[in-house]
Amino acid sequence: MSISKNQIIPLQIESLSNDGSGIGHYCGEAVFVPSSVPGDSIQVRIVKDCKRYAFGIVESILEPSPDRLAPDCAAAAPCGGCCFRHIVYTAEVAAKGQFVQDAFTRIGAFSLKVLPCLPSPQTERYRNKAQYPVGRDANGRICAGFYAGRTHRIVPCADCLLQPQIFSDITTFLCHTFDALGIEPYDETTGSGMIRHIFLRTGIHTGELMVCLVAAVPELPRTQELVQNLCARFPAITTILLNVNAQRTNVILGRENHTLFGPGYIADTMCGVPIRLGPLSFYQVNTPAAEQLYGIAAEYAALRPEDRLLDLYCGMGTIGLSMASRCAQLVGVEVIPEAVDAAKMNAQAMGSAISAKCRFLCADAGTAARQLCEEGLAPDVVVLDPPRKGCDETTLNAVLQMAPRRIVMVSCYPATAARDCRYLADRGYTLRRVQPADMFPRTKHVETVVLMSKAEGK
Ligand code: SAH
Repeated sequence: MSISKNQIIPLQIESLSNDGSGIGHYCGEAVFVPSSVPGDSIQVRIVKDCKRYAFGIVESILEPSPDRLAPDCAAAAPCGGCCFRHIVYTAEVAAKGQFVQDAFTRIGAFSLKVLPCLPSPQTERYRNKAQYPVGRDANGRICAGFYAGRTHRIVPCADCLLQPQIFSDITTFLCHTFDALGIEPYDETTGSGMIRHIFLRTGIHTGELMVCLVAAVPELPRTQELVQNLCARFPAITTILLNVNAQRTNVILGRENHTLFGPGYIADTMCGVPIRLGPLSFYQVNTPAAEQLYGIAAEYAALRPEDRLLDLYCGMGTIGLSMASRCAQLVGVEVIPEAVDAAKMNAQAMGSAISAKCRFLCADAGTAARQLCEEGLAPDVVVLDPPRKGCDETTLNAVLQMAPRRIVMVSCYPATAARDCRYLADRGYTLRRVQPADMFPRTKHVETVVLMSKAEGK
């Protein structure tokens, strides 16, 4: 017996794949089914068969898993952003811990047991940033929402449950106001119209709120009225900007910003570090969960007052700066110039006692690490927080040559973290702790903090 396309089969869901699909077995094949839950007994329609594995969709639920939740978002299926929306949160957290364990066991070939995944302090409305594409709905009214998975079709979504309520209120209000003032949404196919995206950002600790309208044109009609209406209705808004993106591109933001109201940035704090955020700054989207993550990184770094700390892939410097009061010297490296400028500004805002011991370099992590090593920098602790693709060997080799007492890796992708830890483990470092932490509830992403130290020492 084998499986064929369009066949309807009964399936018992046993586990979750790391993109959030349920997995069951039929005729010796693994069958991947989005929106299913371990413990579900379902009827599945096969949509694709690849011989050793197949993909299906839920046709009907025979017996729901006790971990299954009733749907609470009408846009969940077409949007696709929340692959875990239908599963109780404790099961999601357990699954994410298992993804990290699997990566370290299978890719890293480690026998260490990873720590249980830490839940996010908040599981709904946790994001401090949202970007809504703007278009027209089936009735021709201006709407904002999200792109349907892998497409540029807008799924209208008045209220995304990952975003603060006020983001939804502002977005709805803006769509009505655009309609009333004759401000046209941008049309991707013809390149006509103005408004492309509504970009919103808030400082969780300060309550400051930024509205950034991304437009294909450098000026909007009736801007004064728009700004006045918006500020009158939402007093929490502290700044409004127009970001100009005239390119035919998938990139949301352009380089050019015009401040329409307020200072053009908002303030926040992260682990006590004062932060100034413009529309282009990279900033963790779940502030309390990021603080939890960086708290673990600080614990693993276990800095001593005389220590030198090297923070590679430092972004706007948050991780290093949050530990700067506990060490003698901090060097941060980041490739994006604006982020480096922001890191310097954040250090300044912490006062001269801190800023005097900090240096931020704008460079590729590997190139800078090699150069710092040649200059004789011997950091006691190195923090690595690379993007998904992980570290390159130049970076890892330079770190090995600098021979820090401890290496703390913060990673948004378990597979590359496990690979890079194996590289370091084969060259003298021992994997001490692996702590998964959830920073993006309801989505497939999971963060990991790793501690490695010299084989002989602590
Ligand atoms: N540690 C920061 C940012 C982490 S995200 C924080 O917690 O906020 C990863 C960062 O690595 C991004 O800021 C990205 O711009 C930077 N980056 C990506 N490739 C890099 C490279 N080759 N060299 C240096 N930095 C790089």
